[in-house]
Amino acid sequence: MRDNARCPDCGHTEIGKGKLSGYATLTPKGKIFSMGSAIIADVCTNCGYIIKMRVERPEKFKDR
Ligand SMILES: [Zn+2]
Repeated sequence: MRDNARCPDCGHTEIGKGKLSGYATLTPKGKIFSMGSAIIADVCTNCGYIIKMRVERPEKFKDR
């Protein structure tokens, strides 16, 4: 799948994907015992600007 994202900072169109995991996982608020989810970040490969971040497992953040 082609990503047409463009860096809003420098205008570069080559966007790489990074993954934050380990200590940087985002944990659902109030769910102390859940594992949390790794964060996927879209990064400009020219200047390093992070264009967007999303969690890998969004369903973990649903209220039950
Ligand atoms: Zn950039």
